[in-house]
Amino acid sequence: MELWYTEKQTPAHGITSKVSETLHTEKTEFQDLAVIDTVQFGRMLVLDGMVMTTIKDEFVYHEMISHVALNTHPNPENVLVIGGGDGGAIREIVKHSKVKKAVLVEIDSRVIELSKQYLPEIAAALSGNPKVEVKVEDGIRFIAEAKNQFDVIIVDSTEPVGPAVGLFALDFYQAISQALKPDGIMVAQTESPFFNPDLISRVFKDISSVFPITKLYLANIPTYPSGLWSFTLGSKQYDPELVDENSLPEIETKYYTPRIHKSVFRLPRFVENLLK
Ligand code: SAM
Repeated sequence: MELWYTEKQTPAHGITSKVSETLHTEKTEFQDLAVIDTVQFGRMLVLDGMVMTTIKDEFVYHEMISHVALNTHPNPENVLVIGGGDGGAIREIVKHSKVKKAVLVEIDSRVIELSKQYLPEIAAALSGNPKVEVKVEDGIRFIAEAKNQFDVIIVDSTEPVGPAVGLFALDFYQAISQALKPDGIMVAQTESPFFNPDLISRVFKDISSVFPITKLYLANIPTYPSGLWSFTLGSKQYDPELVDENSLPEIETKYYTPRIHKSVFRLPRFVENLLK
């Protein structure tokens, strides 16, 4: 008997992936959590029925949410990740030699623990790295206390549901700006231009009202809704399109490159139109 995992990405469309083994399911304090082995994408972390990350395509998301901002800021010493309990963004952040401190603020300790147990390739940097500090708390509460502290803040959240709703609000972006230093940069995962155009337009407007330089960029993530994913970057001083790609540090990556760094801001017309 064949077993398939299906994610309904909208009420009318989804993806389905052949399952080789269901490794773990539980209801945490915050969400339903599952770890399954799929034939096509390898091991998969699922929260509330939504694919969070898979061994086969996680590199795209974790590299693109980290290296664009970290290579735009000339001296990214203190970096904060809100969400990101699977550890993939932290793994990419600590590849930058200039980073002195990488703080993870994840609301659900079970995501951290089970990612370490079942997804060591992704969660490895969460243990045993003196630069990394892991905090289990609500990012909304943490950010309210963190003033003028970070060079880069990455919002690696779930979709705007449950505890993540507040991570897509204007007052959250205002609080992020206050938590950043005067030349700080933020970047947030901002869903799919095909399935969430209104959210993308509203978030871009909100972030633009807080940061003088606001840009959206795209990447292809096969297991995410529609396969086309967006990231929105807000910067107080440095423009990501003005970096000298020849001066960027070569980092060990599988998707991000200095050449891609500048090309990702060239957007398809239907996405440009969402930002007007
Ligand atoms: N890459 C995934 C995506 O784009 O959907 C996100 C991966 S990561 C697993 C998302 C994390 O955000 C989850 O572990 C979830 O527990 C966490 N999260 C949601 N709301 C949060 C909040 N208010 N504070 C901190 N972490 C939160």
